[in-house]
Amino acid sequence: MLRAYINPRECLRCEKCSAAEVCPTNAIFKLDPDEPAVVEWKACYGCGDCVEVCPAKAIAIRDA
Ligand code: SF4
Ligand code: SF4
Repeated sequence: MLRAYINPRECLRCEKCSAAEVCPTNAIFKLDPDEPAVVEWKACYGCGDCVEVCPAKAIAIRDA
């Protein structure tokens, strides 16, 4: 299954996470404004939309 993975070292912790905004299943969220965004893998189906919009290129699609 393809899943999105956010590299926490590359994530800019954007106030408004554009990747979260485009995700069709709301699989990306931030638990805390100062923390990197995370992916709820159960909700992600690997479409890659988030990869396109992340300004830091912090997201990769992996076979997980
Ligand atoms: S858009 Fe990218 S860099 Fe910004 S919070 Fe979301 S995952 Fe992190
Ligand atoms: S790959 Fe698609 S479903 Fe998964 S987090 Fe990114 S936008 Fe959402």
